[in-house]
Amino acid sequence: MSRGLSSTSLPQLAELQALVALGGAHLQERVVCEVAAGDGRYPVHVVTLGNPSPDVPAIGFFGGVHGLERIGAEVVLAFLRSLVMRLPWDGVLHRQLESVRLVFMPLVNPAGMARGTRANARGVDLMRNAPVDAVAHVPFLIGGQRLSAGLPWYRGVAGAPMEVESQALCQVVDDELLSRSFSMAVDCHSGFGLRDRIWFPHAHTAEPIAHLPELLALKAILDQTHTHHRYVLEPQSRQYLAHGDLWDHLYLRALAERPGHTFLPLTLEMGSWLWVKKNPRQLFSRHGIFNPLIEHRQQRVLRRHVGWLDFMARAACSYRRWVPLDEDARAALRAQAFAHWYNAWA
Ligand SMILES: [Zn+2]
Repeated sequence: MSRGLSSTSLPQLAELQALVALGGAHLQERVVCEVAAGDGRYPVHVVTLGNPSPDVPAIGFFGGVHGLERIGAEVVLAFLRSLVMRLPWDGVLHRQLESVRLVFMPLVNPAGMARGTRANARGVDLMRNAPVDAVAHVPFLIGGQRLSAGLPWYRGVAGAPMEVESQALCQVVDDELLSRSFSMAVDCHSGFGLRDRIWFPHAHTAEPIAHLPELLALKAILDQTHTHHRYVLEPQSRQYLAHGDLWDHLYLRALAERPGHTFLPLTLEMGSWLWVKKNPRQLFSRHGIFNPLIEHRQQRVLRRHVGWLDFMARAACSYRRWVPLDEDARAALRAQAFAHWYNAWA
């Protein structure tokens, strides 16, 4: 813990550090960057467990990119907690960990979380901060803007290096995920709409991504396994286009630099308007629009999404059993995916 700030000022950071201590020798932890906030500094931790071999697939769980969306960090921490508590007794978990690498970065933007802001301490929205521009019209402000750090969705100065938190996240993806032949990422957010949505790229264009067949195959096993799940899996571009999306940036870079690699980055957008609808007083709290404020609802939200994160870890571990294996299978899935998500045939 850095001088100047105690982890008690950020309960999610205290929880992460407690889980690292509980996990002991079963997991590895490192600080990938430190973020200045006021007079002190916050560490950004990465926790890894499972097989470190480059021959096994990997999945990364990210949270707290938007500081105000505490529930995103809490969902990732709740999943990590369930794994850590199973380590002493669950032999099936240990079998799973022989075949997969799990990567956790639950608090990407600790300064934003401590301040209760979407942006980092410098006023930059990390999810609008990557060097990728939308190719068509984006909605005013929300699609990303360079007018002022005093307004939301600020991208940062054009041409400037990415923020330290964004750079740290990219480095973790490079080192831990893209170094393997198959990887996925799940980045947990809240605040959009009534439904729980799972978004995949692109955010900068309505053009479909290259790995559409793999995503439809993932949707199929999710639908088959969790018959009554409430998630809408879709390209983000179906909702709105945005500049500077980190996952578009990382996906495009993986495609260009590691052509043999399959990298599927997903963003969970928990539908917080439902929590507001059930408890309208939340509208008058800044946190209330982005987080469940009633304890039983918070527990229900955590339970539901921890179940999905566990599904994703299993899917990563066993990807060879569900990804399309040859070009004929990919072509068939691509045609179905076009019809499902883009109302057109390839
Ligand atoms: Zn968000």
